[in-house]
Amino acid sequence: MRDKFDREINYLRISVTDECNLRCIYCMPNEGGCDTYSEDLLSRKEIVEIVQAAVSLGITKIRITGGEPLVRPDIVDICRDVASVKGIKELAITTNGLLLADLAEPLKEAGVTRVNVSLDTLQTDKFRRITRRGKYKEVVAGIRKALQAGLTPVKLNTVLIGGFNIDEIRDFAELTRKGDFEVRFIELMPIGECVKFPKSAFVKGDVVLEQVPELVEVGESGVARMFRFADGKGKVGIISPVSQHFCLTCNKIRLTCDGKIKPCLHSSEEILIKGLHGEELYHTMEEAIFWKPAKHVDLSYGYQSESKRAMNRIGG
Ligand code: SAM
Ligand code: SF4
Repeated sequence: MRDKFDREINYLRISVTDECNLRCIYCMPNEGGCDTYSEDLLSRKEIVEIVQAAVSLGITKIRITGGEPLVRPDIVDICRDVASVKGIKELAITTNGLLLADLAEPLKEAGVTRVNVSLDTLQTDKFRRITRRGKYKEVVAGIRKALQAGLTPVKLNTVLIGGFNIDEIRDFAELTRKGDFEVRFIELMPIGECVKFPKSAFVKGDVVLEQVPELVEVGESGVARMFRFADGKGKVGIISPVSQHFCLTCNKIRLTCDGKIKPCLHSSEEILIKGLHGEELYHTMEEAIFWKPAKHVDLSYGYQSESKRAMNRIGG
C-alpha cells in the first residue's frame, strides 16, 4: 500500500530475537543488551499471522533479522512458515554468519531466497576485536555453504568504521573481481553503542571511491549506489544513510521481536501489535504504514538517532 507521502511500502523487516552470539562493539554492550523477556517475544505463530496481514497490505518482500536470527531454535520453521504465505516473493536473512554453515541448506530448503552476511574485517585478529567473540573462520565457512546452497547472490554487509577498517576497503572490493557476489559498504549510524565513538569513526560512504577510484558506477539497487570493476564479476554497493539519507524513497517498515511496528528506523515511534488479531491487527498495521514519518532527523556525529532501541533490538 501507499503511505501518506505516496511511497509504496512493500518491504517488512522482522526481528525474531534481540539475542546475539556476538557483541560487536558498535552495536551491543559486552554484558547484557538482550532485553526482551521470553513471554514478550513473538511466537512463530504470531509472526506468521502478522506476515499474512502484511501481505494483504501489499508487503511482498521480507527480511528476517535480529539480534542474530540464527540463534533462535525455531528459525528454520519460522522461515518455512513465512515463505509459504501466498504473496511473499522474496525471503532474505541478515546474519553474522556464525551458524550459517549448518543452517544454509535447511534455510534454502525452507524457502529462504538469499542471505546478507555482516562482516566488518577480513582479518582474524580484528574480527575478534570488533565482535569481542566468535571465530572468523566460522563465518567464512558459513559464506561458502550459503554459496553452495544457492542462497545467492550472497551479499556481504561491511560497516565503515574510521580507524578500524578503512584500510581494508580495497581488500573487500577486490573480492568482487572474481566472485559473483556483492560487498555493501554501510555508513556507521549514530545509534546504540557507537554513539560513544570519536568523530573520526564516522566516515562518509564516498571514502570507498577514494580508496578504489577505478570503480565504475553502474546504477542503483534499492538504497545502494552500485559500482563494479571493469573486469569484475560481482558488485560493490555504497549505502549512505547518514551523508545522503534515503527517506524519500524508503519502502520499508520494521517489526521488533517484542511485537511492535517501527515505521522508521530512527524515530522513537513504535506501535504495539502483539496480541492483536484479525481486523484489529490489519487496521492497526494499515494505520502504522499510512502514517510512516516523512523523514528522520538529520544524523551526524553528535546528532544521534531518536530511536529508543539499539540496533540489535531493531535489526538494521
Ligand atoms: N546479527 C545480524 C548481523 O549482524 O547481520 C543481524 C542484526 S544486525 C543489527 C544488522 C546489521 O546492522 C549488521 O550488518 C550490522 O553491522 C548493522 N549495524 C549495527 N549497528 C549499526 C550502526 N550503528 N550503523 C550501521 N550499521 C549497523
Ligand atoms: Fe550481533 Fe549483528 Fe549486533 Fe553484531 S551487529 S552484535 S552480530 S546483532
